[in-house]
Amino acid sequence: MPFPQSLIDGYRAFLNGRLRAEQDRYRELSQAGQSPQVMVISCCDSRCAPETIFDAGPGELFVARNVSGLVPPYTPDGAARAVSASLEFAVQSLRVKHIVVLGHAQCGGIRAYAEEAKPLSPGDFIGHWMALIEPAAKALGPRGAMPLEEYLTKLEQASVVTTINNLMTFPCVKILVERGKLTLHGAYFGVATGKLSVLDEKTGAFAPVATEDYARIFNAPRF
Ligand SMILES: [Zn+2]
Repeated sequence: MPFPQSLIDGYRAFLNGRLRAEQDRYRELSQAGQSPQVMVISCCDSRCAPETIFDAGPGELFVARNVSGLVPPYTPDGAARAVSASLEFAVQSLRVKHIVVLGHAQCGGIRAYAEEAKPLSPGDFIGHWMALIEPAAKALGPRGAMPLEEYLTKLEQASVVTTINNLMTFPCVKILVERGKLTLHGAYFGVATGKLSVLDEKTGAFAPVATEDYARIFNAPRF
């Protein structure tokens, strides 16, 4: 199988577009190194790329992606832990000022957990991984008569809160948050609507942002 032509075409578009516009920035970053202010933890899902949603250029976002954008609690057991390593690098070396946990609608990992899907592979890596959202499901309580789609949205958002709580189990995160040098945020992207909501720490609710821009673009004209 040859290298996918769609990627070659995409690279050509990048060469003719963004690279031309941003080459000075790339060169500058290659010499000075990166110093992003924001780390984003998000799902691998192909529909919710943080760089696209936040219109980020080179050097702006330090991104860690995994199934459903989860962070396991601090476990210094000597095992090779991808999220912990990314987090440690972002916080201790890059000294990011913000960590954004970005959840999204129609998350396959969350749905698999909610539907108690059978193991998806012999090793059931996804099943074990998604067990991390158990505290979110418990906090939410039983689904009862709630329609599945509504429950999934609540679970997707509760999972963001659980991940933020797990981040606080890392001593390097906790100490910087307490000193006011690092802030943790939750956000949620509606894939179908394109709406971005941000977690309000006080109310625990996700509130849409940039609503005026959104309305201007999507509200039907009156005449
Ligand atoms: Zn997802």
